[in-house]
Amino acid sequence: MRLANVDGRAVLLTSDTDGIDVADASAGKFGPDLAEIYLEWDGFRAWAEDAVAREDSADARTAFTRAQLDSPSPAPRQIVAIGLNYSSHAAESGFEAPTGLPPTFTKFVTSLTGPDTEVTLPPGGNTDWEVELVAVIGRAATNVDEADAWDHVAGLTIGQDLSERVSQLAGPAPQFSLGKSFPGFAPVGPWLVTTDELPDRDDLPLGCAIDGETVQDGRTRDLIHSVPRLIAALSRTITLLPGDLVFTGTPAGVGAGRSPQRFLQDGEELHSWIEGLGEQRQRFVATPVSADDLATNDSGEA
Ligand code: ZN
Repeated sequence: MRLANVDGRAVLLTSDTDGIDVADASAGKFGPDLAEIYLEWDGFRAWAEDAVAREDSADARTAFTRAQLDSPSPAPRQIVAIGLNYSSHAAESGFEAPTGLPPTFTKFVTSLTGPDTEVTLPPGGNTDWEVELVAVIGRAATNVDEADAWDHVAGLTIGQDLSERVSQLAGPAPQFSLGKSFPGFAPVGPWLVTTDELPDRDDLPLGCAIDGETVQDGRTRDLIHSVPRLIAALSRTITLLPGDLVFTGTPAGVGAGRSPQRFLQDGEELHSWIEGLGEQRQRFVATPVSADDLATNDSGEA
């Protein structure tokens, strides 16, 4: 099953451009708000199993375009993100691969967007790319065993853990959460895919390209902490809630790990993909600077 957020309404996909409006097809039992669907995920899954095939869904058919897509989980109460979870990326970042739970931070929810966006580059910053597998939580998870952890995942999607390295690494201790939470720095989508749709949920090819040049090319089988291992480990400290997003870490190939280093520039397009989950695109624009902006800054507004 693939579930999309089309202009704020839950849509079960029948193709990449068509689907069934969940609220219409269920006569209001589920949807249209996706955040509420995760709160009753098991019941929704049971209903959705054959919703697409049901005749009474015919009137609920709807077509959409990519521009209408928003994050498949639009209002997570927590966005948990994991650092250094591929040994190749830990090495390029100058760290040993962590043996215990890898570094954990948040991307604040105001940075969350849909899959195809324009992102303003923070002035004076070095904005970097990190394509990541994102797990969407479907059942609250506290002290979950690794063997049961997949049962707490509603499905998988793509995330870009966009990262501004100057602010991330400034100060006496790294500012991971702030450096990764500028507006638009957490594009997620294009939709949620349940793991039964995938040939192997533990081994998905993922990558990204800038203006057609591939910069990251990995596989999720190389995660140091797999999705179930992460969820089990995180759930010993925090309770993961339905709709929460877990960014699972990025493979090698980020700009900060290159020699010379490279960061996203005005006008560049970042294309990210995970096989079986789809793709997303960000176009980057410089912060506009004009006489008006300078005058505004002088008055203390930003
Ligand atoms: Zn990351």
